[in-house]
Amino acid sequence: MNPLKVTVWGENVHERQSELIRGIYPQGMHNCIADGLNEAPDIQATTATLQEEEHGLTVEKLAETDVLTWWGHRAHGDVSDEIVERVARRVNEGMGLIVLHSGHYAKIFKRLLGTTCSLTWREAGEKERLWVCNPGHAIVQGLGPYFELEHEEMYGEPFGIPTPDEQIFISWFAGGEVFRSGATWRRGAGKIFYFRPGHESYPTYYDANVKLVIKNAVRWARPEAPAWKDAAPNIPVDKAPEKITAWVRP
Ligand code: ZN
Repeated sequence: MNPLKVTVWGENVHERQSELIRGIYPQGMHNCIADGLNEAPDIQATTATLQEEEHGLTVEKLAETDVLTWWGHRAHGDVSDEIVERVARRVNEGMGLIVLHSGHYAKIFKRLLGTTCSLTWREAGEKERLWVCNPGHAIVQGLGPYFELEHEEMYGEPFGIPTPDEQIFISWFAGGEVFRSGATWRRGAGKIFYFRPGHESYPTYYDANVKLVIKNAVRWARPEAPAWKDAAPNIPVDKAPEKITAWVRP
C-alpha cells in the first residue's frame, strides 16, 4: 500500500509570539505533530501553515493529501474563506479531516458541521482523563480503558456539535466537568474526527497516547475510494436504466 499522505496544518501564531510556547514547541506545534506521525513507516506527514501562500493549502497540495490535520486558535478569522471552501470540497470528495483542540472554532469545522461548536473552558493545568467509549474502534487500538494527561486546559459541555456518528472518547477533568473529547462524523465521502487535547502551553503532542490516537485517526480517516467529484449530471430519458417514455403534458 502507498504511504498515507498527511498534511499537518498549523496556525503557527502562539509559537512565534510567545517565548513560553516556543520553549515547548521550538519548531512549532505542527512540526511536533508531523514528527509523531512520521514515526510510523506507513505515514508520510508534511506541514502547511497560515503564513504560507494560500496557507500552504494549494489545489495541488490538497489534491495529493489523503488526510488533513488542523490546529488553530488565535487566528481563525485570518483563514481565507476561499481556502476553507477548497478544504470543504476536498472533504466532500473523500479527504479525511482531523480537527484538534481549539480547532473546534476553526472556520472549516463550523462550515462542515453547521453548528456553533461552542463549549465551556478553564485554563488551570488540571488533570484530564480520557475514557474510551468504544474499545472496538480503530482510533483507540493500543490504548487501555482510559489514559490521562497530567496538565491540560478544561473543555466542558455543552459542546455545540451535531450528534456525532460515533463517540470515541469522553473526558473527565479534575475540576469535575466532562466533555465529548473524541467524536466522528461523515461529510460527503470524507471522514472527520475531532480530538480535544492539545492546549498550546502544555506538551500534549509529545504524549505517547496522544501520538498513538492521531496515528490511528489518520489511518481511519484515509479515503476509501477515488475522489467523489462534486457534479450533478443530467440522465436523459434514453439513458435511463429502464426503458421509459417521457410523459407529455396533455
Ligand atoms: Zn487551548
